[in-house]
Amino acid sequence: KKKAKIAAKTASKQVKSAAVLGAGIMGGGIAYQSASKGIPVVMKDINTAALDLGISEAIKILNKGVQLGKVTPEKMAKVVASITPTLDYTTLQHVDFVVEAVVENPKVKDSVLQEVEKAIGSDAILASNTSTISIDKLATNLQHPEKFCGMHFFNPVHKMPLVEVIRGSQTSDDTIATTVAYASAMGKSAIVVKDCPGFFVNRVLFPYFRAFSQLLNDGADFRQLDKVMAAFGWPMGPAYLLDVVGIDTSFHCVDVLASGYPERMSALADDAIEKLYQAKKFGQKSGSGFYTYT
Ligand code: NAD
Repeated sequence: KKKAKIAAKTASKQVKSAAVLGAGIMGGGIAYQSASKGIPVVMKDINTAALDLGISEAIKILNKGVQLGKVTPEKMAKVVASITPTLDYTTLQHVDFVVEAVVENPKVKDSVLQEVEKAIGSDAILASNTSTISIDKLATNLQHPEKFCGMHFFNPVHKMPLVEVIRGSQTSDDTIATTVAYASAMGKSAIVVKDCPGFFVNRVLFPYFRAFSQLLNDGADFRQLDKVMAAFGWPMGPAYLLDVVGIDTSFHCVDVLASGYPERMSALADDAIEKLYQAKKFGQKSGSGFYTYT
């Protein structure tokens, strides 16, 4: 009975316009996905080069669709036109929903979230695409933690069906309902999960990455391990997947998880991921990581 009462009071709102903060691998992908499902999106970054890259990634995906006959040139033009790149917050005033997808650094996210909260309307929902950082931790300095939650997409956004919606201790039922509805409107399957470092998927995935880097410390070869995991039936091995995710992002994720679960996961110490990070070999996005990309 109590459940039915709560359900009756919960209302999802239709998201008609959105914004994405950060035009990187994830921000660019989320902006494309929203625009391709007819929900226009403002894409905000701190530099023009990143915005150009975000738009060109969307164009790449759409071009492939046109070549395969799945997307018409008219639809392509419409989708591209509904992504508005920007370097400032003023255009965010009228959007219904904001997804923060800047670097996986708690300090940077904290200041970006506080800045954006001042720039958006009082009804707008703010969600973070953080991979690992606790939603309650990110909500600490927000004025409206009830309008804040996690919305964790996977990479590449246009191909991966799952979205984790993370409920912080102060997140309202309406915020969760609207976020799930927005994920569905974007063609995704949402699961609602409790808040903790790493949520569900990365609590499973990162111990696997950690075991992989420990095997490398023991003298294993990353190419061989990738081949073995492919033979095991996984779509790609751990080294290639780390390059796709981004070595910098993975480095920060291990950091958050090792402090969240010190008894289960050791911090990086002189291992392959840390060495690549220090050498600024961030994976596919920087042209080299475990592998080299041209
Ligand atoms: P990325 O390095 O590709 O992009 C980050 C972008 O944020 C860059 O374009 C950078 O210029 C921009 N940025 C930095 N500071 C900013 C600011 N103050 N305002 C606006 N933009 C700013 O990183 P990414 O892989 O897209 O990751 C973004 C977020 O998504 C992280 O929290 C990450 O953990 C999460 N995530 C990543 C993956 C993945 O596979 N890469 C998957 C799921 C979630």
